[in-house]
Parts: sequence; structure tokens; C-alpha cells
Amino acid sequence: MTSTISINDKQRLQLTPLEMPNRLLLGPGPSNAHPDVLQAMNRPPVGHLDPTFLKLMDEIQSLLRYVWQTENSMTIAVSGTGTAAMEATIANSVEPGDVVLVGVSGYFGNRLVDMAGRYGAEVRTITKPWGQVFSLEELQIALETHRPAILALVHAETSTGARQPLEGVGELCREFDCLLLVDTVTSLGGVPIFLDAWGVDLAYSCSQKGLGCPPGASPFTMSARAMEKLQQCQCKVANWYLDMTLLGKYWGQERVYHHTAPINLYYALREALRLVAEEGLANCWQRHQKNVEYLWEGLEDLGLKLHVEREFRLPTLTTVCIPEGVDGKAVARQLLNDYNIEIGGGLGELAGKVWRVGLMGFNSRKESVDPLLGALRQVLP
Ligand code: PLP
Repeated sequence: MTSTISINDKQRLQLTPLEMPNRLLLGPGPSNAHPDVLQAMNRPPVGHLDPTFLKLMDEIQSLLRYVWQTENSMTIAVSGTGTAAMEATIANSVEPGDVVLVGVSGYFGNRLVDMAGRYGAEVRTITKPWGQVFSLEELQIALETHRPAILALVHAETSTGARQPLEGVGELCREFDCLLLVDTVTSLGGVPIFLDAWGVDLAYSCSQKGLGCPPGASPFTMSARAMEKLQQCQCKVANWYLDMTLLGKYWGQERVYHHTAPINLYYALREALRLVAEEGLANCWQRHQKNVEYLWEGLEDLGLKLHVEREFRLPTLTTVCIPEGVDGKAVARQLLNDYNIEIGGGLGELAGKVWRVGLMGFNSRKESVDPLLGALRQVLP
């Protein structure tokens, strides 16, 4: 039977096969994926319940435990970006009416506030100027005051370039009988992190920064304490896709279909994690520190000032103060157009005040820093 409806060709673009510029991605993320990771992504897809894929999932779980330094059995990759893994931690820990205390000293602390509120939490905040971090004493006072069920902190605030020290925070949380939830999106793979030793109960990350992988498969972990809270919860997790009681049956022994995993992205994540394990965590962290110090030195030689006090600067992301009279956006545009280098601008309170330069994963190397410094030398007035 011929249809009486004619096909509308208005959106039928006639395109050539895709080509993309080869940028050096030195912004807040994504960073360039390691070439081996991109190759791994090109392996032929198998089914999401294929025994070879299930083995690969086990390997991802094990390697994630290694990079996070945790023994948590509930350690998986969420199919989605870092925000999905962030939402997974909230969805699986917050019960309506729970007091959730969030440390806000940047853009991503605010995202946690918004998210926890949407899951019915009574959200309380402590704040710091963007670029500063909370001391243990400040956190202790806040825990005494608010008595939360969950304390949420951002380990590596990508909007400011500051590293929130976590040593001792887990012990405090146990003293006050609350869970510790930590954003490690810009720290995993690049900044020393010891989830179990630091008593972190829930953490999430992303693939596209310190792990040197494309975005879309995001690390998630929860401790036995956090699992206990989830199991005791009277109501269902309010987000079906991110419900760990369901996802646990896919990642665990039962292997029950939950969703179609993004197969090739998981290949990429497995390769990225394999490369970190091959290098060794200590070497990987040292490499990030060494290269960022080389960057800081180069930037300071150019007369630029850095926004965060040295002690709390992230090895993965540096905020550089835009000098008076310089058009920050124009500089970033010129770096992109003339030198194929991407850097980031400021977010929120720091919009127009800083550039954000990321040296993460594969990009944390001298071969990334030199072209940027060379280009800045040309572009800056
Ligand atoms: N948390 C932090 C600290 C981040 O830097 C980001 C992204 O840059 C996210 C969460 C969200 O991750 P994504 O953009 O992968 O969803």
C-alpha cells in the first residue's frame, strides 16, 4: 500500500563523513583520551550479557577499587556522565527528610545542593569563598550544629581548582553517625585518594578526566555502611535507572538485564584503567604533580598569577587569574582557533576572572604544557 503522507525532506542533510579537528584539550574536561583507549573503543561490540563482556565488567570493578583504594563490593561504572554517577550517590543514600549537609565552595557543591533537594533532603550548607577549602575544625562545628545524615564534599572543585583535604573527615562522620559522600570527578587518577582509609562512604567520578577516556561511563562506589542505609530504607530508590538494588543484580552474581550497557565505552574505560594500573597509582599521581608544577612555573614566568593557594592547588586543574585589561574570552578563542588548544573560562563567581587549565590523564605531560605556554607567549599582550 502506498502511503498518502509524503516524506518531509527538510531535515535531510546531505553530509560528508564526519571529520573533527584534533584539539589539545586543556580545559576542565573532557581531556584527550589516550590513543590506546580510542583503539580499544574500536573493538567489535559484543552483547551486554556476553561472557567476555561480563568478564570485562568484573575487571572494571576490580580496577576501580584499585584506583579509588577501596574494597567496596558495590563499585561499578554508571552508564552516563559524572552527573549521572553524582545523582546515583544521592538517589541511593538520601531519604526524604534526611538532613544533608553540603560544603559549598564552588559550582559543583551547588549542584549537589540542588540534587539533594530534589530527592527530598532537608539541605543545609556551609560555604567558603570560591578557591578556599574547609578545615577539619569547621567541618566538626558544622556537624555538631546540623547533625546531618550525610555530609557531602567536593574533593576536587573543578570550578575553582581547589583540593579539599579529606584526612580525618571520615572519622568525624563516624563520630556524628553520618555518611560521607565525596565528589572525585576531577581527582580520580590524578590526585592521591584513599577512600577506605579516609572513611568515604559514597563516591563518584567520571571517565573523561584523570582516567584519560571519553565521557560516558562513570565510576560509582558505596561502602557497606551506605549499603546498610539503602537496605533499611522503607521506600524505593526514586530513580529507576540509577537504583543500586537493581543495578547490583546486573553487576553482581545474578547478571540480570537492567539496561543495555554502552559496550564500547566500557571497553574504553577498561583500557584506561588498565593503563593506570600498568603505570601504578603512585607514579600516576607523581606524574600529575610534576607536570602541573612545570605548568605553574611556566605560567608564573609569563607574569600570570594563580587563584588558589599552593598548598590546596589541584594537580589536575589550575585556575589562572586573567590579568587586568585582558579579554579572557578572546584569549581562549584565539588559542582554540589559531593553536587548536582548548582551555576553559571561569564558572559562576569566577566567570570572567580566571582561565581553567586542565592537565589530566594522558594530557598530564610536558608535551601538552609546552604548546600551551608557547601559544600564551604569543597571544598575551
Ligand atoms: N563534579 C565535578 C567536580 C565536575 O567537575 C563535573 C564535570 O566537570 C561533574 C561533577 C559533572 O560531570 P559530567 O560533566 O561528566 O556530567
